[in-house]
Amino acid sequence: GGTAVKCSGCGITMQTTSPDLPGYIPEKLLTREPVICQRCFRIKNYNETSSVTVDQDEFLKLLSQIGDKDALVIHIVDIFDFEGSLISGLQRFVGSNPVVLAVNKTDLLPKVTNWNKVRNWVQKQAKEQGLRTEEIVLCSAKKNQGFDRLLDVVSELRGNRDVYVVGATNVGKSTLINRLIRDYSDMEQELTTSRYPGTTLDMVNIPLDDGKHIIDTPGIVYPWRFSEIVSRQDLSSIMPDKPLKPAAYQLDSGQTLFFGGMARFDFVDGQHQSFTCYINSGLKIHRTKLERADQLFADHAGELLSPPTRDQLAEMPEWTRHEFRVPRKSPSDIYISGLGWIRVNSENGALVAVHAPRGVRVLLRPALI
Ligand code: GDP
Repeated sequence: GGTAVKCSGCGITMQTTSPDLPGYIPEKLLTREPVICQRCFRIKNYNETSSVTVDQDEFLKLLSQIGDKDALVIHIVDIFDFEGSLISGLQRFVGSNPVVLAVNKTDLLPKVTNWNKVRNWVQKQAKEQGLRTEEIVLCSAKKNQGFDRLLDVVSELRGNRDVYVVGATNVGKSTLINRLIRDYSDMEQELTTSRYPGTTLDMVNIPLDDGKHIIDTPGIVYPWRFSEIVSRQDLSSIMPDKPLKPAAYQLDSGQTLFFGGMARFDFVDGQHQSFTCYINSGLKIHRTKLERADQLFADHAGELLSPPTRDQLAEMPEWTRHEFRVPRKSPSDIYISGLGWIRVNSENGALVAVHAPRGVRVLLRPALI
């Protein structure tokens, strides 16, 4: 019973159990005045935000409020997991409001990347998902690349609008918003501003020194991303933190590559050809015969084929098999959400298969690079 305690910053109902969910406050701080959730506390006192997450249904509820407002939407996606981090239903919810697609973590692609080609690829893929983008900005929040461009685009398009920042978990939303806070908000004024206007659900309004706001939304959890099913410990083995080192393999049909014990790639049929793996180097690639692959996994998963450890593997869904016929004359990737992709280099076509934990999204797509 009793009335739920609300955050005096963002208006969210507070809870003391889940630090990653909206409205979290450590129990012992409930008596502190003003009562303010951890996320608002950090923004107020340290001028920085941190990630909180919600599930898809919750997120759609939040999104549907944006369509009624005059807003500029920055949608952040992760270039390492583009399809997995793209909010495909976004257009329906934002209505006629302009969307800037910020494609983050470009520092992870090899230094000698054709960025025009990447931009065109992104544009095409976004369009195919039904997303109209006012502008596409390639950036790296971490390396501060493309960020001036993003700020320019935002100032250009913003007019009198508030800026909503939306994204899946782990795409770098907090890192990017913290830069926006640093560049746009006046620390002194910030500290004397104890209330954030517009108290809607789990969105946090960050006042800027020109009277506008950035609205930080919780990160949406998409269950089809590898990053959501591995343990926190294994996240660092699948998530690259420096530029990917493409690993090329010349394979005959009937050969298999294991990516640690996370997933496996089978070259089922086709002429001898090369495949390039864009996978974090923290994951050892093990080559074997396709006919031996099942047995090898049964015998050595969690040991020779690790991470994950045997214990962690037991916590993950069983593998399912996805088969793809790679068409001739169209450079393609076999993409595994959150784990990376394998570029099929030959133009002769191939029959391939991926084994990955059930639920992880695996797709054939036009080659990114
Ligand atoms: P959020 O969950 O979307 O708020 O993402 P965070 O800002 O917390 O970042 C998630 C992870 O991605 C962290 O480990 C960051 O260091 C990393 N990250 C953020 N931006 C970049 C980037 O531009 N490049 C790379 N390589 N990593 C990034």
